[in-house]
Amino acid sequence: MVASTATRLITHFIDGTSVDEPAARYGEVFDPAHGTIQARVAFADPALVDRAVRAAAAAFPAWRDTPLGKRAEILFAFRELVRADAQRFAQIVSSEHGKVVSDAAGEVARALEVIDYACALTQMTKGEFSESVSRNVDTYSIRQPVGVCAGITPFNFPMMVPAWMFAIAIACGNAFILKPSERDPSASLLIAELWMRAGLPKGVFNVVHGDKVAVDSLLVHPGVGAVSFVGSTPIARYVYATAAASGKRVQALGGAKNHLVVMPDADMDAAADALVSSAYGSAGQRCMAISASVTVGNAHEALIPKLRERIARLKVGPGADAGNDMGPVVTAQARTRIVDYIAQGQDAGATLVEDGRALRVDGFEDGFWVGPTLFDDVKPDMTIYTDEIFGPVLVNVRAGNLDEALGIVNRNPYGNGTSIFTRDGGAAHRFQREVQVGMVGVNVPIPVPVGYYSFGGWKASLFGDLHIYGEDGFRFYTRGKVVTARWDENQTGVNLGFPTHK
Ligand code: NAD
Repeated sequence: MVASTATRLITHFIDGTSVDEPAARYGEVFDPAHGTIQARVAFADPALVDRAVRAAAAAFPAWRDTPLGKRAEILFAFRELVRADAQRFAQIVSSEHGKVVSDAAGEVARALEVIDYACALTQMTKGEFSESVSRNVDTYSIRQPVGVCAGITPFNFPMMVPAWMFAIAIACGNAFILKPSERDPSASLLIAELWMRAGLPKGVFNVVHGDKVAVDSLLVHPGVGAVSFVGSTPIARYVYATAAASGKRVQALGGAKNHLVVMPDADMDAAADALVSSAYGSAGQRCMAISASVTVGNAHEALIPKLRERIARLKVGPGADAGNDMGPVVTAQARTRIVDYIAQGQDAGATLVEDGRALRVDGFEDGFWVGPTLFDDVKPDMTIYTDEIFGPVLVNVRAGNLDEALGIVNRNPYGNGTSIFTRDGGAAHRFQREVQVGMVGVNVPIPVPVGYYSFGGWKASLFGDLHIYGEDGFRFYTRGKVVTARWDENQTGVNLGFPTHK
């Protein structure tokens, strides 16, 4: 691998400043379109993580005690700065992740939705009050921040997924440590810079870079009160178990195999548009990408040719070029993994309708390219169906009727997102009632909830109780307390009976 500007160094951000001392270990950050190394990122060791936790713990009490209105003012200022720098974020994300800039801009817009919602902190942190629960006794609930919260995030949304976490955690009065993906770590440092410019006190937002060593240190550190994780299912399961065993509150969102059911009565053009957009957008590297279609009855006869027409029109090339629809995948290893799966699908006997393995992009011969790939007649025991491929590979499974389609979706171990395309309201209603999936679309391709609802899958797509952002976000990042108070001048007399409301 060639290093083009290998001297650029990406480092941690703790207590309001970057950490300049050398690290014992570094990771490589690629330019996926050129296949070159564009930077090195410092990897934190346990001592460095401890430093970040101490800085966050020291900053926490003053931030917790900052009046709500002042906190909201800083959130609003941060929101304006992110808005003003949206294009800069999009370019940074595109350059390290590989996705096209317009797609990265969409990611920033969705991050802003959550930041907008976090600005409602004065409303969202309110408790409840009941007067006279007993004679001269009132009861009220309050929500208090947890303390130091950690966020561990995946490569595929280096701006949006961290924002799902830190915006609400900080709004609630917590201090936050972000451990972004080591594959595309730079967006986190622009986030840190903008928090400082918005007036957030030092130590409230910190960034530590690294791999398993940094993550493990956060999961067991006694100073960390809550852990939010988004990434693949095996790591989500591990993070949930390890942090929970360490007494922390945890939400760990995992991987996905999202199905789109196409009924025979669906608008086939709309279904084909939706499938191509959601299967191949961001080169299939979205946790809400549709990676499996389920055609019911004879729907495949009309659908497959329409998918082929659309795939033929897709332009694949560097993310920085506005004319492209799809960029490269994130690393050479990711490419190898994806092309291996395509070979497995072919060996297992699925029909390879479109094969993206031979794709070359002129002038970018070393880039990590995989073209849009389509399989038909896929059986549920094939690895291209059972496994999350996380690349531009759409597999079509055929079902005889809606019952069979629901069975296929519900037997899948993942339960992140799903969608149905139909003109039959009864079928859509039955689907949304019976499907065992956390986020459901009806005639929409990617049912990612808007910022004022919460995001989360079922089954192997989420470990924990609360979903992320929205109202659940405010619940996750605060602890409830209930106070029962008596202000009664004539409060006398011993009574050993159990207190009642009479
Ligand atoms: P990943 O699980 O490899 O990495 C996620 C984070 O965990 C990174 O910060 C990484 O440094 C850390 N990590 C990796 N291996 C670890 C280990 N052994 N121990 C401790 N920490 C470790 O995921 P990824 O490849 O960066 O992202 C893609 C995955 O994330 C896909 O499975 C995708 O579906 C999932 N994802 C899920 C959602 C969701 O909302 N459910 C959203 C985005 C991405």
